[in-house]
Amino acid sequence: MKKQTQAIRIQNKRTSHNEHSVPLYLTSSYVFEDAEDMRAQFAEEKEGEIYSRYANPNVQEFIDKMAALENAESGWATASGMSAVFSFFGAILSSGDHIVSARSVFGSTHKLFTEILPKWGITTTYVDFDDYEGFEKAIQKNTRILYLETPSNPGLDIIDLEKIAQITKRNEILFAVDNCFATPILQRPLDFGADVSIHSATKYIDGQGRTLGGVILSSEEIIEQIKAFARHTGPSLSPFNAWVLSKSLETLDVRMERHCNNAMIIAERLELHPAVSWVKYPYLKSHPQHHIAIKQMKGGGGIVTFELKSGLEGGRNFLDKLSLFSLTANLGDTRSIATHPASTTHSKLTMEQRNAVGISDGLVRLSIGLENVEDIWDDLLLALD
Ligand SMILES: *Cc1c(COP(=O)(O)O)cnc(C)c1O
Repeated sequence: MKKQTQAIRIQNKRTSHNEHSVPLYLTSSYVFEDAEDMRAQFAEEKEGEIYSRYANPNVQEFIDKMAALENAESGWATASGMSAVFSFFGAILSSGDHIVSARSVFGSTHKLFTEILPKWGITTTYVDFDDYEGFEKAIQKNTRILYLETPSNPGLDIIDLEKIAQITKRNEILFAVDNCFATPILQRPLDFGADVSIHSATKYIDGQGRTLGGVILSSEEIIEQIKAFARHTGPSLSPFNAWVLSKSLETLDVRMERHCNNAMIIAERLELHPAVSWVKYPYLKSHPQHHIAIKQMKGGGGIVTFELKSGLEGGRNFLDKLSLFSLTANLGDTRSIATHPASTTHSKLTMEQRNAVGISDGLVRLSIGLENVEDIWDDLLLALD
């Protein structure tokens, strides 16, 4: 089956009511047929759900769909994107291990690298996104994982997945990608040689701003290690959220098409506006890594960043003048969203630190929604003028 069909037709349904839509299995535990069945399931001689911290039909359906969409052997779902990121590192790393990461990563991932993992003697070295030699040079004897996000948030820098995969294979370390911005519709990191793909399902996968969720996709071997860690530490995805996310996947392909079309139109128009100094969107010809974007992504995605000539004050003013756009700390929603990183998510960084991750005072991040593109543009134009 093609991806669009798999997202709709992979189903996990075992009751006898002939439901067309898979029902919600809200149960914390599962009964055994008899003492022998119970013994065999606990001994892992026989398949069975046992307890919803271990497994659940709705959660499994969501995993099966995501694994099919990313051409992964296996997967594991978690309560949020960050619990997916943490479960991956927690399962794979031991005290004394080392991570090489691209410098611009999601804020909470940065906290994990700088404040949480060091408590267990795990250290991280950051490398600039375009310094491929630097990535290889940063690998030490104790390095286990190379980690990156592409496109990055909010700078939309693109890293060549094939090039990085050559480095990690040569050095026999794991290559993990946070694929949240692209979704499996636009980019499949495993196809380019990555070992692990991680998502915050909270963003485009839900796509309607309702639930948190996360997922890790990889080989059977890696997922077994994550399972062993996560089953006993408990970052389980709730059956209800899994049910929502699994239904959401049915429309991911059509939603991403509209996100990409709307975002491309907005990016092209912003580039021509006199109040704007530059626009970044992976599918714009002016994007410095456009050639990499068109090689590994099937579309530019729904995020557009641009810089206002009017700087910090202008950025805050601009947000206040928007009326259709929501000011909210999410992205990948049906509703268009605007944020101003310098005065919010990245306000605690010094100017120097902000510049190192490409966040200037006038930078605005737009998550272009599914509204009619003329309404989106009218709102932006009014605020820009
Ligand atoms: C939101 C986000 C996360 C964290 O996901 P949550 O679901 O909020 O825990 C991780 N990486 C990226 C790129 C994100 O945008």
